Amino acid sequence: MLISSEKILQSARDNGYAFPHFNYWDSNSIRAELAAAENRELPVILAWAQKHSGEIGVEDALSLGKYYGSTAKVPVVLHLDHGTDPDFVKWCAAHGFSSVMIDASAEKYDDNVKITRDVVHYAHQLGVPVEAEIGHVGTNSSTDNSTYTEVEAAVQFVKETKVDSLAVSIGTSHGVYQQGTPKLNFKRIAELKGSLNVPLVCHGGSSSGDENLRKAVEMGISKVNIFTDLANAALKVAQEKEYSSQFEFSVAQRDAVQSVAEHYYDVFATEKYSY
Ligand SMILES: [Zn+2]
Repeated sequence: MLISSEKILQSARDNGYAFPHFNYWDSNSIRAELAAAENRELPVILAWAQKHSGEIGVEDALSLGKYYGSTAKVPVVLHLDHGTDPDFVKWCAAHGFSSVMIDASAEKYDDNVKITRDVVHYAHQLGVPVEAEIGHVGTNSSTDNSTYTEVEAAVQFVKETKVDSLAVSIGTSHGVYQQGTPKLNFKRIAELKGSLNVPLVCHGGSSSGDENLRKAVEMGISKVNIFTDLANAALKVAQEKEYSSQFEFSVAQRDAVQSVAEHYYDVFATEKYSY
């Protein structure tokens, strides 16, 4: 069953746990992530990122998400991750994504507000909740540096945009860290949670360290985005040994991705969710 992200994230916020958000990039990965959720009998957020369009197009991703989402044994949120073009995000909200993200965090504050508010207004008419980002979660592989989310700006941003959940920059980055685990700003997470009434989202969860993520969730993060660790688990399987058939290889990849996904349910204490 496809559901909106609103209620489950609010429940996570109120009860001190988080939902994992898993990006999928093909049918094998979405099946593995769903298998993890079904095995745990917990809802799942399955996400397609606009920046993965070159690997899997939006129509393709939508078909997979709608099919697996509607036939799943657990509630599924079909989420658009990092939509950068407002018209495209609106299209996604109108064509089956049950949750969308508009990411205008690279813009100036006023432009981020304007773009986000416009998308929120449109998506809410369709009953689709919107995630936006303030502060900037960068990547490790470039000069695209992160900046921490300021509390006052976040409060103002939520008030002005009426956004449903907020991606905040608290020390994580997208991709794999070059040196060890990152230093997270737990104090800032607690301040943000105390000042805002919307669920907080942590991007770049992969390789941030289980203890770090566990504490981030305790301090107030309600959704953690995971992509790189899942993709690398599938890659590692390919590099580890030779397979006697393509099918044997596919099953091994699914098992590896499922196992990483299940691990994150444990780290985020998602079993606290009650139906
Ligand atoms: Zn992200």
